[in-house]
Amino acid sequence: MHTEFKAAPNALEDKVILITGASDGIGKQAALTYAAHGATLILLARTQKNLEAVYDEIVTNGGKEPIMVPLDLGQSGPQQFEEIAAIIDNDYGRLDGLLHNASILGSIAPFEMLDAQEIHQVMQVNVNAAFMLTQAMMPLLKKSKDASIIFTSSGVGRKGRAYWGAYAISKFATEGMMQVIADEIDNVENVRCNAINPGATRTKMRAKAFPGEVPESLKTPLDIMPTYLYLMDQASDKVNGQSLDAQPK
Ligand code: NDP
Repeated sequence: MHTEFKAAPNALEDKVILITGASDGIGKQAALTYAAHGATLILLARTQKNLEAVYDEIVTNGGKEPIMVPLDLGQSGPQQFEEIAAIIDNDYGRLDGLLHNASILGSIAPFEMLDAQEIHQVMQVNVNAAFMLTQAMMPLLKKSKDASIIFTSSGVGRKGRAYWGAYAISKFATEGMMQVIADEIDNVENVRCNAINPGATRTKMRAKAFPGEVPESLKTPLDIMPTYLYLMDQASDKVNGQSLDAQPK
């Protein structure tokens, strides 16, 4: 079962992996976990000082020096993503993993009260940026021996729920994007594309969505890492077009 997957200590030794939203929450934990299994990371998020904290923790723990990319996905277009691709191509000549993890929640509010500007922003960060980033990285992923693209879904990306507005719509789009890409690359042996639904996890986003909840009642980002490792590990090289739930029992 992927929620109990145990990767070999050096399973990601030769992997170059880009993580969006690597400065906090689930993305930060994925960065620490992948680095602990030998990966070289490209860490993308807005907040430089939080990226530096993740960088320091990785290096202190004996991991490889990551590259930091301070970037606002809400303000970025194809040119920014092509520039990142050029840096990765120059330094490594390939990309082995792309974890689309960054998202924003937007307002939890009745549909009729949603603000058009905010819907635009949520779709830009959660969907459009992931779309453009994948396009820019695809040539590098195809140069890898074994590449994995992972999108981040949600329960409300599979079944709509009242008041989850733009966020839920963006997660349906994310599932759709994953399926389209997966179908197109179905006969590309060396690239696969899947999604993870983290489930309720103890992060700032969860606290914002459910302010009354007791954080200690929730799984931590560390608890859900087996699925994140499974989809980056060669063990999943034949898995394509799946949306996996990450919550352990
Ligand atoms: P957090 O809000 O804790 O972390 C979000 C990360 O994304 C941060 O590193 C943040 O860094 C980054 N980010 C946000 N906006 C931007 C932006 N415009 N440009 C670049 N980076 C950005 O979220 P979680 O860890 O909880 O969520 C991670 C993923 O899991 C998301 O896709 C979320 O939808 C999904 N998810 C989470 C669940 C949960 O219970 N936590 C449940 C289901 C799905 P910075 O502020 O520095 O930019």
